[in-house]
Amino acid sequence: MNLNDILDQELHEECGVFGVYGVSNAAEVTYYGLHSLQHRGQEGCGIVSCKQGQFNRVKGLGLVTEVFNDTNLNSLIGDMAIGHVRYSTAGGGGIDNVQPFLFRHHTGNFALAHNGNLVNSNELKKYLEERGSIFQSTSDSEVLAHLIKKDKRAHRIDAILDALQMIEGAFAFVIMSKDKLYACRDKYGLRPLSIGKLNGGYVVSSETCAFEVINARFIRDVQPGEVVVIDENGITSYDYSKYKRYHMCAMEYIYFSRPDSDVEGRNVHSFRKESGKILYRERPTEADIVIGVPDSSLSAAIGYAEESKIPYEMGLIKNKYVGRTFIQPSQNMREKGVRMKLSAVSSIIKDKRIILIDDSIVRGTTCKRIVSLLKEVGAKEVHVRIASPQITNPCFYGVDTSTYDELISAHKSAEEVRKMIGADSLYFLSKEALFEAAKREDLCLACFTGKYPTALYQSIKDANKDGKF
Ligand code: SF4
Repeated sequence: MNLNDILDQELHEECGVFGVYGVSNAAEVTYYGLHSLQHRGQEGCGIVSCKQGQFNRVKGLGLVTEVFNDTNLNSLIGDMAIGHVRYSTAGGGGIDNVQPFLFRHHTGNFALAHNGNLVNSNELKKYLEERGSIFQSTSDSEVLAHLIKKDKRAHRIDAILDALQMIEGAFAFVIMSKDKLYACRDKYGLRPLSIGKLNGGYVVSSETCAFEVINARFIRDVQPGEVVVIDENGITSYDYSKYKRYHMCAMEYIYFSRPDSDVEGRNVHSFRKESGKILYRERPTEADIVIGVPDSSLSAAIGYAEESKIPYEMGLIKNKYVGRTFIQPSQNMREKGVRMKLSAVSSIIKDKRIILIDDSIVRGTTCKRIVSLLKEVGAKEVHVRIASPQITNPCFYGVDTSTYDELISAHKSAEEVRKMIGADSLYFLSKEALFEAAKREDLCLACFTGKYPTALYQSIKDANKDGKF
């Protein structure tokens, strides 16, 4: 395992999408939107703009600030644009899989970007290839485009509605034709997608945090099973499915989304803070200080400290400048992996009984390194409190916990995990607490319970059994 792998033991979301309609310099607005969504994917990004039916695209591997510059942004003319940031899982990496995809077709050109994962893409790809479709990439997101292209009806919305009925899984799609923007969300409500208003035009985004930076005003979320069409007439709503559920991915609240985003009306920082409070109430523990693993666990740590009256301290500092392009180190340096990313503040930690808050345990290796780091600098006791339940099952909806093998809690009890990470005690938040903190009755909890809201197709089961997926 190299240093980048060691540093990269966290959960990853697959993507973020953004779209603009009716705003001058739409590509520039999209650039700022994507920059706010950068935490959802750092491997590649792209923008397609449209002016009077002319589509232009820039995409590349790397961060938003690395891929775009004044020159290539100036080439993206028009008052419509869509953009995408990608973290690759399904379909793998490489420039071909970086979105938005652009399709030229006699029924009208269009561009498409997707966040999520389709569970029946293998079956649909086979079906489409047998009927002459040629795929540009290995990404499952292209399946929807081919389904749309197969439909020769005059109105694109008819093709989109029918195509959406054929796909299963988690998705937030933005599609741009020469004069319309389409925002679509899966009928289970697994992935977020919000609409905002900006200078007489509209923006859509995977997260509301992107609205702040461009000064857009949140209007509403796209509903599960809904297609929102934005054009010169404003917003028109269609349902592609009457079956609607509100199984928002719990991990959006726990880990993925930025604390300043509101996910279906619930602010993410407030959710995490509340989960920290409940964590203390569920398992009160005496200690001297509370610390959180930066950055996503800090809100829960603040909540725990507030509820327990134990002081919150900055015991771990993150080095923000350890990136993916960090040099490949020697074995000796590899073993220092977490230290490159996180430093323990010994003057704060020494001789203290520590409550260490983390948002989740996936493989257990990062948590183990942090506990040993704290003990090395003199912590008397380390009590690990996890602001989510044990992850016992893979996610098939666009999060890279894709095999049982990778998940420590799929094989070990909480006590066995405690021993493995070297903590003095370990407690995981209950499932009920997630509903309480989110102030809602439905969530996807499949990675904690194994109860998946969608059908799982045989291909996924087979791939997972072989450890390939
Ligand atoms: S299985 Fe877990 S990570 Fe995947 S969508 Fe459901 S809650 Fe989110």
